[in-house]
This record gives sequence, structure tokens and C-alpha cells, in this order.
Amino acid sequence: MSVLKPKESFLRQLSKLMFPLWGIRAGLYMTLQTLWRRKFTVQYPENRIEIDPSYRGKISLLTEPENHRDICISCQQCARICPVECIHIIPKVDEAKKRHVGVFDVDLNKCLFCGMCEEVCPEHCIVLDPVYDYSSYSHDGLYLTVDGVSRDASVEEWQMMLGEKDRKKREQEAKRAAVKAAKEKAEAEKKAHEETES
Ligand code: SF4
Ligand code: SF4
Repeated sequence: MSVLKPKESFLRQLSKLMFPLWGIRAGLYMTLQTLWRRKFTVQYPENRIEIDPSYRGKISLLTEPENHRDICISCQQCARICPVECIHIIPKVDEAKKRHVGVFDVDLNKCLFCGMCEEVCPEHCIVLDPVYDYSSYSHDGLYLTVDGVSRDASVEEWQMMLGEKDRKKREQEAKRAAVKAAKEKAEAEKKAHEETES
């Protein structure tokens, strides 16, 4: 199949004939024009541009800041919500039937960086850090185990988690109290109705 090339204008053809080095001159002129303008690139990796904190990059599993204990309860909600099934979890259960992190693998080759795992986590301990420089020469290098994803939460993150837990607890207590009050009210109305009928 032949591809039709757009026809060059007569003036352009003429300028090509008359000034064969016109392209080089135009290029040099543009280079000189931009030589003194503000630079938009940086000398990476010595210098790095500041990334927006909302950037979704490498996945991290947060641990408690001081004693490095797991925050994750291995509930597997992140693995279930993941649209490409790139999180693989095998929980570890202790004598008190409490779940801890056993196997926690993340395949960053498949990850879409959608942030759904972060959204769904009840403990707020899986986060997508604004980190972008973790490339690898092999696929295996982007298959991270628990040691590759774990990091200590910062003090701010830890306070946010505790605050969120408190808020959820208060919400649950308020919900339970509302259900209880509604039940008591219904029972009182039923009793009053029975008394008026008898
Ligand atoms: S960011 Fe999205 S694709 Fe990546 S692990 Fe989380 S849920 Fe899966
Ligand atoms: S959703 Fe959160 S708590 Fe549950 S397994 Fe994933 S990281 Fe751990």
C-alpha cells in the first residue's frame, strides 16, 4: 500500500533549492534563543525534582515507628480488591488466634498504581509512596517480598492511623447506641400498644 506524502509548497521547494543549509541555520537560531531561558530539566540523579505527595509510586507496608511491629492484620482485603491480583498474602496465626504478616508479596511488574489497596485497608498500613526510581533489569527485581515493601511509618502517618482508628471506634459505638435506642423505642411502643388494646 502506497502512502501519500503531503505535497510541499512551491515556496518551500524554492527555499530548499536556494538555501540548502537553511534547516541548520534555523536549528542553530532556535538553540541560541533557548540558551538563556530558564531550564526545565535537572541533572539526575545528583538533582531530583520534587514529586507531589499524592503521586502513587512504590508500594510500602508500614510498621510501627518505634518497635517496628506489624500493623497489617493480614485480612487480605487489599489482595481481594486488587484488579490485577498482584498482591499475594499468606497470614501467620499465633497461639492467641491473632493474624500477623506471613507472606506478603507484591508484583510491581503488574501493578497499575490505582491505589485501591490503599483505599480499602482497614489499618491504613499499605501506602503508595511518591517514589519512582526503583527500576530493575529483570522482572524478578520488581517482585517484592515483605522485606522489600516494609518500612517504618513516620510519626505523622502513625498519628493519622491512631486518629482514624479512634474515629472508626467512635462511629461504631454511636451506631451501636443508635440501634439499641431504636430497638428500645420499638419495644416500648409495642408494649404501649398492647396495653391500650387489653
Ligand atoms: S495499586 Fe492497584 S494494582 Fe497496584 S497493588 Fe494496589 S490495588 Fe493492585
Ligand atoms: S488490607 Fe491492610 S491490613 Fe489487610 S492485608 Fe492488606 S495491608 Fe494488611
